[in-house]
Amino acid sequence: MSAAISEEQWEAAAAAIRGALTPGAQVLLACHVNPDGDALGSMLGFAQGLRQLGVTGLQCSFPGPLTVPEPLQMPGLSYLVPEEEAHEKPDLFLTFDAASVTRLGKLAHRLDTATVSVVLDHHASNSGFGRFSLVDPNAAATSLVAARLLQRLGVTFDREIAECLYIALVTDTGSFKFDLTTPEVHELAARLVATGINVGGISRRIFDTRSFGAVRLFGEVLGRAELDPAAARGLGMVTAVATIEDLRRHEQPPYVMEALIDSIRCTAEADVACLLKQMGEQEWAVSLRSKGGSDVSKVAVALGGGGHRLAAGFTGRGDAADVIREVRERLT
Ligand code: 5GP
Ligand code: MN
Repeated sequence: MSAAISEEQWEAAAAAIRGALTPGAQVLLACHVNPDGDALGSMLGFAQGLRQLGVTGLQCSFPGPLTVPEPLQMPGLSYLVPEEEAHEKPDLFLTFDAASVTRLGKLAHRLDTATVSVVLDHHASNSGFGRFSLVDPNAAATSLVAARLLQRLGVTFDREIAECLYIALVTDTGSFKFDLTTPEVHELAARLVATGINVGGISRRIFDTRSFGAVRLFGEVLGRAELDPAAARGLGMVTAVATIEDLRRHEQPPYVMEALIDSIRCTAEADVACLLKQMGEQEWAVSLRSKGGSDVSKVAVALGGGGHRLAAGFTGRGDAADVIREVRERLT
C-alpha cells in the first residue's frame, strides 16, 4: 500500500466516518463536474458500500445536468439527485476524484457546512481541501482509494459495488495499460472480477461501442488533425478540434467526443496530444496527454485546470487556434 496516505490519516478518516453514521444521518457524496468513469464509479460504488453498512439518508450528486452517458450506466444511479436537491448541511460529505473545489461547482460549500468532510482523490494537483484529505497521487484511480477505505469500514464487495469500482478502475487505467497499473490495481481487479461481474460486456459497452454517426464524426475530426513536430521541445504535438457543429451534423451527444483523445494520442510523431472539445461559443474542454516527455498537468494548471503529469485538462476560451497556441507556448 502506498505511503502517500499514512496509517494515522486512514484511521482518522475511518473513525470520523463511523462517528458520523448515526441512525438517520444525512450523507452526501459528490464527484467532479462532467463525471468520467472513475468519478462516477468510485462515488456510486462507495454509496452502495455505505448502504451495506445500514446508511439510509444517502445522496449522490455532481454539478450540472444530471445526465449520465450511455456507456457509464451502472448500478447505484438511483442515488443520484440534482445539485439543487442535495442535503444543505450533511452529517457526512465525501468527494470523489475532484482535484479542486471548483470542480464541485455549487456543491463545494458543503465542505464548510458538513459536520465531517472526507476527500478521496488521486490527482497530484489536488489543492488539499476537506477536513480529512485522502489523496494518493500514486493511485491509478480514485476507486483504489475508495476501495481501501471501504475495506477499512468493513464493507464486502458485492456484485453491484464491484461493477462500479471496476468501471472506475478500467477507465482510469485505460484497460490496465497506463503507468501506475501496479500489482495492487490487478489485485483489486481480481477481487472485483471474482464477484461475477461481466468483464467483457463492460469493456464492450465502455470502449468498443460507437454509433455509426459517431464513427463518421471521428473520421472527420481525425481527418482535420494537425501535427506540429517542433512543439514540446521538438517532441511533437498532435491537435484535433471537435465542434458543436460536428455533433449537430452527425446528431451525436457531447460525450462521444471524450474517446477522440485516444484516437489521436497514438500518433508516433508526437509526445503530446491536445484535443479541443467545443462547449460553447469560444469555450473548449481541452484534453492533454503526454507519452512521458512532457508534464501536461503543469500546462493545465497554468491555464486554470488540473490533472496528472501524463493526462490533464482545462477549460480554454477564445478561438481554437488561440487555445492551441497557449498550450504550445507552455510546453517548454
Ligand atoms: P480528460 O482529458 O480525460 O477530461 O481529463 C484528464 C485528467 O485531467 C483527469 O484527471 C481530469 O480530472 C483532469 N481534468 C480535465 N479537465 C479538467 C479541468 O477543467 N480542471 C481540472 N482541475 N482538471 C481537469
Ligand atoms: Mn480519476
